[in-house]
Amino acid sequence: MNKDYDYIVAGAGCAGMSLLMRMASDSYFSSKKILVVDADDKSLNDRTWCFWEKESDIFEPIVHHVWEELDFFSTHFSTVLDIAPYQYKMIRGIDFYAYVKNTIASMPNIEWRKASVKRLLGATELLATQTTSTHQITAGIELNDGTTAFASYVFSSILFDPIPATSNDYHFLQHFTGWEIETSSPVFNPGRAVFMDFRVSQEHGTTFMYVLPTSATTALVEYTLFTESLLPDEVYENAIRDYIKSELKIQNYSIMHREKGVIPMTTFSFPRYQGNHIYIGIAGGEAKASSGYAFKSIQKRTAAIVNALKQGKSLEINKTFSEKKGQLYDAVLLHVLHYQKMPGDEIFAAIFKGNKASSVLSFLDNESSLFTDLKIMSSVPTGIFLPAALQEMVKQAKR
Ligand SMILES: Cc1cc2nc3c(=O)[nH]c(=O)nc-3n(C[C@H](O)[C@H](O)[C@H](O)COP(=O)(O)OP(=O)(O)OC[C@H]3O[C@@H](n4cnc5c(N)ncnc54)[C@H](O)[C@@H]3O)c2cc1C
Repeated sequence: MNKDYDYIVAGAGCAGMSLLMRMASDSYFSSKKILVVDADDKSLNDRTWCFWEKESDIFEPIVHHVWEELDFFSTHFSTVLDIAPYQYKMIRGIDFYAYVKNTIASMPNIEWRKASVKRLLGATELLATQTTSTHQITAGIELNDGTTAFASYVFSSILFDPIPATSNDYHFLQHFTGWEIETSSPVFNPGRAVFMDFRVSQEHGTTFMYVLPTSATTALVEYTLFTESLLPDEVYENAIRDYIKSELKIQNYSIMHREKGVIPMTTFSFPRYQGNHIYIGIAGGEAKASSGYAFKSIQKRTAAIVNALKQGKSLEINKTFSEKKGQLYDAVLLHVLHYQKMPGDEIFAAIFKGNKASSVLSFLDNESSLFTDLKIMSSVPTGIFLPAALQEMVKQAKR
């Protein structure tokens, strides 16, 4: 291949395609040569994204369902969360991939290549290429077939190596299995979703169900855990089956679709860039360590990248104060869970009991004010959380 591009998007999943869609929607990029490389053709409905937002963003046309109200259940506290001014939204992977692929299909400046990226090229190799190139070569990739491609920037969402198991960090996983079910008679309220239902066994650690009804007869039911290790497949399957029968009281249904996933919830500090190799998505540390949510932070980051490119600003964008603050809060939560100082279901129940749902959602988005943060922190036992916070602050200061 050995061709030059302005930008290479290595990995076209959520982050790569979000960046592409933002570039494709902006005439500034219509003269830029862009190469997209993904090992997969992205034609499967391999995940469903849910997220909350106040205003619509570029993926509004493919939002599959919206809820204004969410249920929160636990054995300690249950309520209907009034999430205004937020709405809780769902986008299906298959719609997302098709939308972006259709948008870029007619754009001659964007080239899609189905291939596996072996690695990002090192500084010496890039320097050697510079002399023969018409573009400013500051980034590049090598594919598994040995060919290379060069650009001014590579945006990579590929996790080439496992996340280092550093002893100083917490390494939780959000792992889940979901069934999209269809019932023969109407049983669901499509206007209200179950955000978290902790009334399930907590024997493996922080565990909850969520139920996302998209009509009176269809819903996605997911069994989700925040723990440090995975479980055998049958544990997830049995838990969903039991929940549908005993909690949702549904006897007759068919499984339309299954999804499963594992998302890192770690305090490991992912680098955001190395030279002009810019790491995005989970590989850029965009999965929130305390919740596993990544869709919205990916949108914020890709929007910031596009703005910086247009303004000719450096892409060496480090974490903002709010992001660093959020990182500390995430570390405190993982600390408390890791040392089993308080069970996760009790923590979430205390937080939702003591605060407005919209404040909690802004807190989880790293968008809350210091006043809100203090209010949320005062809703959990300070005897447990304050020492954890002090220890995590010392750890962060030493990084
Ligand atoms: C099942 C599931 C459900 C989720 N639900 C939510 C949710 O509801 N809300 C939320 O906020 N977050 C959710 N997440 C977390 C997060 O939003 C997703 O994982 C999201 O897809 C992360 O985006 P990404 O671009 O980092 O990774 P991906 O979307 O996984 O994209 C990475 C891309 O890189 C490609 N790739 C990998 N290796 C190579 C290689 N060597 N060469 C070429 N291509 C390669 C892959 O094919 C893939 O297309 C979910 C995750 C999963 C797995």
